[in-house]
Amino acid sequence: MNDTFNERLRLIRFRRKRERTRFREELRIIPKWLVWTGVTLYILAVIGGIGVNLGNMSYGGGPVFPGDGSLVNHPVLSCLGLASVITVVSFFLAVWLFMLGYVYRDAKRRGMNAGLWTLLVLILSPAYVFIGLIIYLLIREPLPYTCPQCAATVSARFNFCPNCKYNLHPACPQCQREVADTDKFCPFCATELSHAPKPAADAAPAPDPFS
Ligand SMILES: [Zn+2]
Ligand SMILES: [Zn+2]
Repeated sequence: MNDTFNERLRLIRFRRKRERTRFREELRIIPKWLVWTGVTLYILAVIGGIGVNLGNMSYGGGPVFPGDGSLVNHPVLSCLGLASVITVVSFFLAVWLFMLGYVYRDAKRRGMNAGLWTLLVLILSPAYVFIGLIIYLLIREPLPYTCPQCAATVSARFNFCPNCKYNLHPACPQCQREVADTDKFCPFCATELSHAPKPAADAAPAPDPFS
């Protein structure tokens, strides 16, 4: 990794600090149709599996769960066992599917290449399980946010608001590194920072000279 890449990562993390993400809200990004497809497939798998199992048990001719035939005279236990195996397998499949759905939607709303990222997570998942997701979560771009001065939606890549020219990423005049709006001193070189006047929305209303 070279310095430019590290600096870019640092910037992304720095800008993402303003994001307040909660797990439950993040889960809402997963497309509803994907969730319902998963639920439907799971119900079909359980009904189908139990149906085949009971059929093979009554009429013979096919395998009965478990494969060694130990429960062939215990239909309830056999079907419960089969249902739990299907449930466990479905659970991992669902986590995997929802992970892909999440990465796709999240990358899209962050203005990243959604298809490419989903593909990367997909390719890495058979061998490395969640590594693709972890890489994605570490280097994803920050969410677009509202300009503090004029409330226009601005991309996290912008340095200035295209609507009102507000400086979205003030830098230290001494070391040129990005500092937060609220910093009084540069966290890197301790230079005292004098920011532009606070946005009009935050400041107290100016006294009316005509009253
Ligand atoms: Zn603005
Ligand atoms: Zn500095």
